[in-house]
Amino acid sequence: MSEKARIGVTGLAVMGRNLARNLARHGHAVAVHNRTFAKTKALVEEFGHEGTFVAAETAEEFVASLERPRRLVIMVKAGAPTDAVIEEFAPLLEPGDMIVDGGNAHFEDTRRREQALREKGIHFVGAGISGGEEGALNGPSIMPGGSKESYEALGPLLEDIAAKVDGEPCCSHIGADGAGHFVKMVHNGIEYADMQLIAEAYDLLRGGLGLGAAEISEVFRTWNAGRLDSYLIEITTEVLAHTDAATGKAFVDVVQDRAEQKGTGRWTVQTALELGVPVTGIAEAVFARSLSGSAGLREAAAGLPGPTVAKLGEEEAAGFADAIEQALYASKIVAYAQGFNQIQAAATEYGWDIDLGAVAALWRGGCIIRARFLNRIRDAFAANPQLPTLLTDEYFREAVAGAQDAWRRVVATAVRLGVPTPGFSSALAYYDALRAERLPASLIQGQRDYFGAHTYRRTDREGSFHTLWSGDR
Ligand code: NAP
Repeated sequence: MSEKARIGVTGLAVMGRNLARNLARHGHAVAVHNRTFAKTKALVEEFGHEGTFVAAETAEEFVASLERPRRLVIMVKAGAPTDAVIEEFAPLLEPGDMIVDGGNAHFEDTRRREQALREKGIHFVGAGISGGEEGALNGPSIMPGGSKESYEALGPLLEDIAAKVDGEPCCSHIGADGAGHFVKMVHNGIEYADMQLIAEAYDLLRGGLGLGAAEISEVFRTWNAGRLDSYLIEITTEVLAHTDAATGKAFVDVVQDRAEQKGTGRWTVQTALELGVPVTGIAEAVFARSLSGSAGLREAAAGLPGPTVAKLGEEEAAGFADAIEQALYASKIVAYAQGFNQIQAAATEYGWDIDLGAVAALWRGGCIIRARFLNRIRDAFAANPQLPTLLTDEYFREAVAGAQDAWRRVVATAVRLGVPTPGFSSALAYYDALRAERLPASLIQGQRDYFGAHTYRRTDREGSFHTLWSGDR
């Protein structure tokens, strides 16, 4: 066989194909393999001029074409197909070789696979890759887990093909075993929250101010020039400005209002429930998508009594768009604060040494939630790696304090108009609960002790107490 490849990619659908091309374009000889060989041939025929591809028809040929220690990237469907591919390749590898799973695996699967392969001396790297097919080709955000040793051999290659922001690669070692896929999962959860908040802002601009899609696009364009500057706001301006060719109507007005989901948002919430971390922003976003898709329920409930959304009067409308921008920013800060708390909790639970500032830094480019604001998060964790919540960082504390009156005004107005804002409202409730001197949880403890003798702790004495309630007699 001719030249040995530095790295190999198996699974040449959109993601794998583009990742292989990205590697080749950066001057790395890349072995390519796919269950169906026709895809391998097609890739080399179409893009062979972009760099050095070594096409392999069989698993044996593929492994033989890799320089040692072997670096083998799997980009196949997550779940059982990934296990099948690992089972096919693992027996062909030697201690010290590396298998990278770049698919959207659940972090628990990654932990299981890492442990099984570690026993064979093979490094298993669960790498979250964000940015879709465009990112895979031109620079994704990469979140690799696994051993430090594997990162030494893989890191330079991955950093080379990752997105760059201010000359820094959007890729760094996240932590052991499933840490990379965990962080990717939370990234997706935050993406759900961010999208929901933007959608609520749109709904309020539409309902409260009576603006049309094109006008709202302009409002978002202005916001994108400020502190909300982000990929998601940028594409929002594009989507809202888009006209449907068939009808000439605004695109958003001809699309069914039922949001779909692939499941990573749900994973984030399920995991948060198990860790006991309130990620209300992500949860509300997942539930809002479910509600939007509950066609039968919505049909049955249509017309239930309540206010009909009416445009605000001139006086109330004054400054309302600006107030929405402030509510959006404050709610976004809460959603990110919660997501980072979830990563912190998982790091404690699973023994991962995660640099939260580095996570914020690698989300600045290549991925869906890339935003200028992530620089602030990076700075916050750089100043205090043990920060209990982003909300207590000086910058964020001031930002929320400044936005607070507008945020409350927006939520109150939404409630009065009957515009559902689960993201804005729950973020504000979370903020108020966190800062509260006392919560009504004391009453809940009383109730629990009453019906279940669950006991309670007192504010004035150590120990655990039970009251002999009249219901006990
Ligand atoms: P995909 O549609 O998820 O998977 C198709 C690929 O998997 C094909 O190469 C297919 O081979 C292979 N495959 C399926 N079952 C197999 C099996 N039992 N044994 C061997 N190969 C098998 O492809 P994708 O959209 O490129 O995504 C790849 C991975 O990246 C997934 O885990 C996905 O979740 C993740 N991801 C995707 C995106 C995205 O935007 N698409 C973004 C981030 C991450 P054949 O050609 O032989 O059928």
